[in-house]
Amino acid sequence: MHNLKSYLSGSWHSGTDSTLVNPMNGEAVAQCGSSGLDLGAAVTYGQDVGGPALRAMSFTERAAMLKGLAAAVHEIRDELLDLARINGGNTRGDGKFDVDGGTGTLAAYASFGKRLGDRAYLSDGDTVQLGRTARFSGRHVRVPRPGVAVHINAFNFPAWGMLEKAACAWLAGVPVISKPGTSTALVAWRVAEQIVASGLVPEGAFQFLCGSAGDLLDHLGPMDGVAFTGSAQTGLKIKSHPNVQAQNVRVNIEADSLNGAVLDGDLEPGEETWNLALLNIATDMTQKAGQKCTAVRRIVIPENLVDQFAEDLVAELKRFPVGDPADRVNRVAPVAHPGQFDDVKSGMAKLLEVSDVICGGLPEKEGEALLVQPTLLKATDSEASVLHELEVFGPVATLIPYDGTRSEAIRLCNRGGGGLVCSLYSDDAKWAEEVVLGVAPWHGRVWIGSKRMAEQALAPGMVLPAMVHGGPGRAGGGEELGGLRGLDFYTQRVALEGFSGLLDQRFGPAEQD
Ligand code: NAP
Repeated sequence: MHNLKSYLSGSWHSGTDSTLVNPMNGEAVAQCGSSGLDLGAAVTYGQDVGGPALRAMSFTERAAMLKGLAAAVHEIRDELLDLARINGGNTRGDGKFDVDGGTGTLAAYASFGKRLGDRAYLSDGDTVQLGRTARFSGRHVRVPRPGVAVHINAFNFPAWGMLEKAACAWLAGVPVISKPGTSTALVAWRVAEQIVASGLVPEGAFQFLCGSAGDLLDHLGPMDGVAFTGSAQTGLKIKSHPNVQAQNVRVNIEADSLNGAVLDGDLEPGEETWNLALLNIATDMTQKAGQKCTAVRRIVIPENLVDQFAEDLVAELKRFPVGDPADRVNRVAPVAHPGQFDDVKSGMAKLLEVSDVICGGLPEKEGEALLVQPTLLKATDSEASVLHELEVFGPVATLIPYDGTRSEAIRLCNRGGGGLVCSLYSDDAKWAEEVVLGVAPWHGRVWIGSKRMAEQALAPGMVLPAMVHGGPGRAGGGEELGGLRGLDFYTQRVALEGFSGLLDQRFGPAEQD
């Protein structure tokens, strides 16, 4: 059994509060815990030791550090994929999605960062004349905040969640205290070991907390930030934490989302756009056993297309066998831990009150294996609130019929109350324009599928470093990534007003801006 350790204030600390299991057979695979750790000292260590060291590096040097880290984590890729299987229950494909997503994001930020040069600030917009003449002018710049970034991650992406957040913070010049979801911390811990062993990150700029967050938030101050990914309930606790509120600690929340896929009524069964929808939805339902924050939960589909699409989707899902991820033939592995299995089962039971089963259905445990068959439901009442409000975090999606009008498609999609991604399938530019504008305010990302891009399309469930990730309302109201926008959370925008010559010479845009 692995003994997972936290890396705080320059040394490793073990703990035994929690036991992590293999969701295929219930075997204990690791232990970890944070009881008794001095988290206040870790915050100070990050602020006093890690921050100055990181800020002494230029953007170019930090970018080179990210590139080196991407290579260092990639070196242990096979080992990580094995650990993701025995702890998270990942197939090899699921593990790659997480691990390669993490190293890919580090590499992407290395490339965004190397263009920023050796300045200590980021330029933000143009110089504007403020006085009678341009002699007195103003411009905005962004500077790193001299605090720590606390990163609290969900169980489903132990590698990507940790590395995508760290990439932005480190490039901005802010030290990190990273806390993975405890139930699947094995992969995150091994990545943490590799980061420390690489010697690439200055001392204090990376700390790792394995186990509960304890009193960590009590120690944060006004220059610190918390970037959180997880459930809406925990997000609410974090942003209403008394010290976080009193100190105006910055908070970014990435929470859950009932992502909708919307089909245009003019789609023809069997054509490219139809097939693209089938492939993407089947992938979302099965990849990571549906435990993906961007997975489609609601398929908003014109009444005249429902039966054919259901039949074709069931056929598509048959290509994804369910079983032990140790056998590479299997494409759908168990859900990550027993609590997850219980939540999926009870959530599915609630959906079944307002829907019929097309395939799959309520899961039963097979021995200790937490397997759930991909389950497609069809709403008997498209208006039922539970369909639009309850995220069942497993391989489950519901067909929600609508009358085929654009306004209804928009209204049903937006009933999710704010989402990470809405995917549209249409070959009609007018339809796409109207639906995009209708759903845009309620979503962080709108993915527009058509036969014009089908051949090259990356699936809507993929979060790409160049594009923003996050969403309004129930999705948390946060924003991550999006190229250099991802650094905004870790930097302070300051308005500079003074002599235009000084502003242009000392704080002007670099050639690359
Ligand atoms: P969770 O139970 O909310 O836990 C998320 C993280 O918060 C874990 O690290 C957890 O630690 C920690 N935590 C729990 N209580 C805390 C507290 N009082 N103070 C500080 N930290 C606390 O969520 P989960 O079950 O891991 O993840 C599943 C959810 O995440 C789903 O709803 C999914 O939609 C969402 N998600 C969203 C995104 C996105 O990018 N928007 C991505 C992935 C997942 P412990 O594990 O130690 O309890």
